[in-house]
Amino acid sequence: MGLIIKNGNIITSKNEYRADILVEGEQIIAIGRDLDTKGHEVVDATGKYVFPGGVDEHVHYNSFNSLGYETSHAALVGGTTTVGDFVVQPVGVGLKDSIINYKRDYLDGVATPDYVLHGIIMDPCEESIDDLVNMPSVGVSSVKLFMAYKGMPYYVSDEWIFKALCKGKQAGVTIMVHAENADIIDVLTKKLIEEGKTEPKYFGDSRPVLSEAEATSRAIYMAKIAEAPIFVVHVTNQKSAEIIRDAYNEGLSAYGETCTHYLMLSDENLAKPNFEGAKYVCNPPLRPQSDVDFMWEAINKGWLLSVGSDHCAIMGGFSEGKRKGINDFSKIPPGSPGVQDRLYMMWTYGVESGKISRQKFVEVCCTMPAKICGIYPQKGDIMVGSDADIVIFDPNYQGVVSIKDSLSGSDYCTYEGYQQKGIAEKVFLRGKLVAEGGKFVGELGKGKQVMSAPYAYCYEKFKEGK
Ligand SMILES: [Zn+2]
Repeated sequence: MGLIIKNGNIITSKNEYRADILVEGEQIIAIGRDLDTKGHEVVDATGKYVFPGGVDEHVHYNSFNSLGYETSHAALVGGTTTVGDFVVQPVGVGLKDSIINYKRDYLDGVATPDYVLHGIIMDPCEESIDDLVNMPSVGVSSVKLFMAYKGMPYYVSDEWIFKALCKGKQAGVTIMVHAENADIIDVLTKKLIEEGKTEPKYFGDSRPVLSEAEATSRAIYMAKIAEAPIFVVHVTNQKSAEIIRDAYNEGLSAYGETCTHYLMLSDENLAKPNFEGAKYVCNPPLRPQSDVDFMWEAINKGWLLSVGSDHCAIMGGFSEGKRKGINDFSKIPPGSPGVQDRLYMMWTYGVESGKISRQKFVEVCCTMPAKICGIYPQKGDIMVGSDADIVIFDPNYQGVVSIKDSLSGSDYCTYEGYQQKGIAEKVFLRGKLVAEGGKFVGELGKGKQVMSAPYAYCYEKFKEGK
């Protein structure tokens, strides 16, 4: 017996059409009009949208002071069926081994959505670089390096980024960078704190737009010299997005994503009184409204490919975790929860407000992230043969984002009080119903690793022989 999702309006990144979907086991096995329902369970989706389960290519669990996978069912309630998590390499542990250990220690039997993993080089040395070519054997084909965070273990100098770019392309591993100029930020931070400017509102001043744009440009130059693709994570502003766009138009394989909060929030959130601004401290910081507006244009025009949540629910939330920086903004643990809200914010403030089409919504939230992560078309599309990760979406729901509905484990919602139009009425993960109308109804800990294939989307131009 299979499952037939009947008569929904199927939205993909390219199309919209009315059809039935037949699921057997974990996959979609047929799509068509008036499929024979005999012997199958039928879910009526008349008047509803049906789109692929969200793929959030950028989340953090069990790292950077964040909560772990015991809270990951929040993703499913928000319609996201696959998350892309960044695995921090502990110093002294091999890059590939860091993936194996992380999976064993934090994921197996705990993760609830499916997941694809990215590496993080935190122990830059020849062994780590050599290990890049072994990453696809453990299902990982993207590795991130941090240009920011001077004096912290995450910081990686240009030498290692350049070496990673050269090595990564030998095995089709996409190099991702967190692009911010570490030295400039270090100088500005110390100066602001010395001047007694310690409140969250000064956080943005310590990491100006141009310190991000400079690092973005430098990373792209390094990729150009290495003749390798590059993916810039969490782009926040017009200048950086233009640098990526122009490099791409010049023929380089330069790509980037932005995140929900850079589309929804601005530097005014950081200026909220009574330390409230700390809730919105994340790296890079929130930017002025003009940059926020530009981010919508950038995704709409395809200058930035996708929208991740950069979900990072800090342990202890606002009441304890964020308090570490009460006297010094640079000590506020960066990050905020967002995996549950990403699709709703993109739908309500993107689709419903007329900023993006429904197709673009699916493209930036589901399809393109799957392509970037090397897990397409298993994930990110409604296609015969794809995993039956399906959202039945009721566009008529009207609500408000509230901590009382949040499963993130935090004590605040990044988008508290924001409108929510539409809700994931039913969410299927590999054919199993896991969430219904904002409630988790599945089984915890049943998420599986999705193996990422090397030479993913960022290698497109290489494949075409351009
Ligand atoms: Zn991140």
